[in-house]
Amino acid sequence: MVMESIPHRQLSSEVAVDVGRGVRFRYRSIRSARARAILTIQHEISRVFRKVLDSEGFLEVLAPIIGPVTDPGIRGAGTIEVPFYGETYVLMTSMILYKQMTVASFPRVYSFSPNLRLEASASSTTGRHLVEFYQLDLEVAHGTCEDVMTLGDTLMFEVIRTVRQKCKEQLATLGRTLHLPPRTLPQLTFSEAIELLLNDGFTLDPAEEIPWEAECHLSNQFSTPFWITNYPATSRGFYYLRDADHPELVRSMDLVLPEGYGELSSGGEREYTNKGVLQRMHETGEEPQKYGWYLDMLEEGIPPSAGFGIGLERLTRYVAGVPHIWECSPFPKVPGVS
Ligand code: AMP
Ligand code: MG
Repeated sequence: MVMESIPHRQLSSEVAVDVGRGVRFRYRSIRSARARAILTIQHEISRVFRKVLDSEGFLEVLAPIIGPVTDPGIRGAGTIEVPFYGETYVLMTSMILYKQMTVASFPRVYSFSPNLRLEASASSTTGRHLVEFYQLDLEVAHGTCEDVMTLGDTLMFEVIRTVRQKCKEQLATLGRTLHLPPRTLPQLTFSEAIELLLNDGFTLDPAEEIPWEAECHLSNQFSTPFWITNYPATSRGFYYLRDADHPELVRSMDLVLPEGYGELSSGGEREYTNKGVLQRMHETGEEPQKYGWYLDMLEEGIPPSAGFGIGLERLTRYVAGVPHIWECSPFPKVPGVS
């Protein structure tokens, strides 16, 4: 086990002060050797993504910034509304609905998607929440969870291998020792994860996603990224496909970083029929009338697909070994800090 990270809930006051100062005086800190090392590593991560996905036959699509609808499954964070010629549009919280549109045309797509979420101010202390962040978002028509998890394994291996090889100087500047993960990452089911946490004294609602503190604890048990699979349907958005053999579950997984860094990615197989989505919207309390073009599109037919989104700043934070995510954005927006 490697335990180099600062546990998120215990960010020292020094780090908290650094966050406020860092955001306010970014025009200064961006010139530091430390910022240059972090952002160079981020550049290398993006390059590996493009290289691997291009070689796997993916097409890069320019991501939307605003639209009439966006992803509602954002764990209670707020959306930002924008006036749009007499209508109200929203800034993208994720491009999931738009990815489903593109896989109807191209079988394998990816985007560097800018996302905005008004996270609770209290999440500024988790060390892993920004208001503005990028997802490396991919989708595979007719893909399964297993297919995209294999892709995730390759991406993690290649990112870490390349950064270790090409960014030795930057890793040394940051004092970061980065371990090469196995080519196939470990997996545990959601119920195994819950059992582990209950045994360790956490009180949890097994119908909900794992809370940050508990996930951080779980993450600290691992020295390599790992997958959590088989999420309960009640914990996920309407666009996840129910497991035909276990209808209480959805075909969905998270990729979790080790050493206390926590969730890196969520994804899975998508509900793609109009009827199925309406049923899931009903269960999750969504208003179908908000989703005009999306439901029309499903009515006309799209292929089933699977995919995931990786938080670029979160991956940078782990790879660079940084206590707070603000340093992994060139122009950070931290919840509650203006
Ligand atoms: P979600 O759709 O909430 O599962 O988000 C997908 C991925 O985006 C997460 O696994 C994170 O890597 C990243 N992400 C989500 N919210 C944030 C945030 N507030 N700040 C930084 N990254 C985030
Ligand atoms: Mg998630």
